Amino acid sequence: MAPLYTVLQPRVRGSGRCTGSGPATGGPLPPHRGSGATRRPARMGTRKKVHAFVRVKPTDDFAHEMIKYGDDNKSIDIHIKKDLQKGVVNNKQTDWSFKLDGVLHNASQDLVYETVAKDVVAQALDGYNGTIMCYGQTGAGKTYTMTGTTENYKHRGILPRALQQVFRMIEERPTHAITVRVSYLEIYNESLFDLLSTLPCVGPSVTPMTIVENPQGVFIKGLSVHLTSQEEDAFSLLFEGETNRIIASHTMNKNSSRSHCIFTIYVEAHSRTLSDEKYITSKINLVDLAGSERLKKSGSEGRVLKEATYINKSLSFLEQAIIALGDQKRDHIPFRQCKLTHALKDSLGGNCNMVLLTNIYGEASQLEETLSSLRFASRMKLVTTEPAINEKYDAERMVKNLEKELALLKQELAIHDSLANRTLVNYDPMDEIQIAEINSQVRRYLEGTLDEIDIINLRQIQEVFNQFRVVLSQQEQEVELTLRRKYTLIDKNDFAAISAVQKAGLMDVDGHLVGEPDGQGFGLGVTPFSAKPGKKAKSKKMFKEQLSTSARKEGASSPVGGKDLDFSTSKTQLTPSSKEGDVKDMLMRDRETSSIEPLPLDSPKEELRPPRPSTPPPKPVAFEDFKNERGSEINRIFKENKSILNERRKRASETTQRINAIKREMDMTKEALNFQKSLREKQGKYENKGLMIIDEEEFLLILKLKDLKKQYRTEYQDLRDLKAEIQYCQHLVDQCRHRLLMEFDIWYNESFFIPEDIQVSLKPGSSIRPGMVPISRIVSLGEDDQDKFSQLQQTELPEGPDSISFYNAKVKTEQKHNYLKTMMGFQQAHRK
Ligand code: ADP
Ligand code: MG
Repeated sequence: MAPLYTVLQPRVRGSGRCTGSGPATGGPLPPHRGSGATRRPARMGTRKKVHAFVRVKPTDDFAHEMIKYGDDNKSIDIHIKKDLQKGVVNNKQTDWSFKLDGVLHNASQDLVYETVAKDVVAQALDGYNGTIMCYGQTGAGKTYTMTGTTENYKHRGILPRALQQVFRMIEERPTHAITVRVSYLEIYNESLFDLLSTLPCVGPSVTPMTIVENPQGVFIKGLSVHLTSQEEDAFSLLFEGETNRIIASHTMNKNSSRSHCIFTIYVEAHSRTLSDEKYITSKINLVDLAGSERLKKSGSEGRVLKEATYINKSLSFLEQAIIALGDQKRDHIPFRQCKLTHALKDSLGGNCNMVLLTNIYGEASQLEETLSSLRFASRMKLVTTEPAINEKYDAERMVKNLEKELALLKQELAIHDSLANRTLVNYDPMDEIQIAEINSQVRRYLEGTLDEIDIINLRQIQEVFNQFRVVLSQQEQEVELTLRRKYTLIDKNDFAAISAVQKAGLMDVDGHLVGEPDGQGFGLGVTPFSAKPGKKAKSKKMFKEQLSTSARKEGASSPVGGKDLDFSTSKTQLTPSSKEGDVKDMLMRDRETSSIEPLPLDSPKEELRPPRPSTPPPKPVAFEDFKNERGSEINRIFKENKSILNERRKRASETTQRINAIKREMDMTKEALNFQKSLREKQGKYENKGLMIIDEEEFLLILKLKDLKKQYRTEYQDLRDLKAEIQYCQHLVDQCRHRLLMEFDIWYNESFFIPEDIQVSLKPGSSIRPGMVPISRIVSLGEDDQDKFSQLQQTELPEGPDSISFYNAKVKTEQKHNYLKTMMGFQQAHRK
């Protein structure tokens, strides 16, 4: 008979009729070895109970009084007479009833196959795994049911019939290329035997077989699997196995009734339509279990006892596994307790169609074992499975199909390009040079030297975005580095610091009312002028201009910027990280060029100075004099700055009030809008084909809200600018105040305490100018600060730049101390 199906190239060694794999590569084909397949979740079915059938061995001595079948042939009732009870079952119970899926009494092999196996085999060709097991005491007909008689075709069992059905179904499915493989395993005394190992293509096994588990399932490593292209080949393999079973029982002195035999048919079906990447696999396990009779009956000793123990053990492990499978609450199933359950792990329960056929005797003498077998059957009936199709994807086919698709799409693109007059567009992945070019384009675009980046294709667009990210992150790092060099950045996770900043600073735009300015707390949280672009920079410029004009008004010689008023005595230095040396230099320059520098001694005012009184005037009085005399200039600037500060504060307060008013109005408008909206929704009459129609009132409210938001943003921006100005101005006022007081101290001491002889050195022509006397004197009288600082720098600063502020403070304190000491000396000299 010429096969109508094509046999796919086998993955196992060898070819032709016998294609057994060697021990190293054998074993049931794990699904992933199919065709480089990728496994996909199988289509899950609904839960299904295991089907349990009973086949009663024909006998002339059937115990009619004890064994009764239900009318539907789906139950067996057992009744034991009282007098017999003691001898047969040591139990008070006399009646049992077993519900089953079918009782096969005097049934032909044909009917048994139809009832028990046909559906399971048919479904295997659709991708469902199937397991059929024969259970029962020795001689009850398990092997007869499973294998049948090899001499008589009519009496052939499930195995040959299943093979026949498989090949017949293959013939009926010309749309699919279906391969069939078989293996035959025997488990005897917890050892695994390959019943097809005698075939010439298999060769002697080097290592014993082992049961291997992987995500795809369980398989027996070392078991030969044989590709069969036709029914006859398959039968030959079956007979080979049966023969080996009998021979082994003789030569190895095995009792064949004490071994478990598992004949497996593996099916793999690929569609002949090459575009169909899916394929299915399945396996049918046909299990002929060892005799289930209990140990005491065998009366065996020695070797036989050992066998019986094993049989009972493995069958009782099977029973335990079955009980566990039937218990919904159990999540652990003890499959690995013996070879039998381990080998059948993915064929018991799980996702397969499962059938148990219990073979029993019909004689009264066997009733005890019959009861035991029926109990097993009813336990099995509690087990549910979830049959599912084993569907996989053929990776090779997938790749081929995708390649085809890709080529087609590229052609399509080329056509589109030529139609759009775009030529030579490359759609391949980019190389490093192309990526570097895009990076450079992005940089130039950001700098403004490139107006636009041409769009070429999707890949290029993606790379442009990618390079934007690269450049952006690089710039971020650079900015952060620069900021860290200049400022102390507040850690985002430092909540205390953040809340302090929030308290002192501004609140978010979208949120809440802005607090009333108190004129003190605006400094924090506001970006320094220099860091603000656009509008802020402009306002800063205007502000500075205002300051400098105010300073110039009264004849200041140089423009007064913020920096020009930055005295060394200031507590709030604007350049926190400048080095001490720089500060000193700057200070000297400032002193030489500053417009608020005290007037020279030979000024007309100085000449008009009245003679010194014998007792110095009280300081408040003297301070008023000072402000009119030498301190007039700095006092004027101080006052001017103060008035600017006050004016800015007033404006900030007004702006804040306006913002709050706008905010309140916004809230009210929002409320009104919501009300209108809810009204509209309730009426619902304006909804039309997805278009929203709003009435005039609502529209006006929306416009109003929009306008208010705009106002809010503008005012808020103004407030931010004002606050920055206030902070800046406050700073200047503080500095001026400090300078005024310091200058006054110097003036006061010079005017009322410095002895006449020292005053001489202050006369015109002398190198020492007024206002500088005390400090210069101290410097010259005491230790030279510059030297001391240089010395300090040499000895101490290696500790790092962080120590600068520490040493600055140290030097300043010493300066102050020396100054006071010198002044005391002057006062004492004066008193004498
Ligand atoms: P088991 O495998 O359960 O030990 P077997 O299948 O070897 O039992 O059966 C023992 C004997 O009974 C065999 O000779 C077999 O041919 C015969 N036998 C069992 N069941 C039947 C049956 N239903 N019809 C005819 N003969 C049977
Ligand atoms: Mg048997």
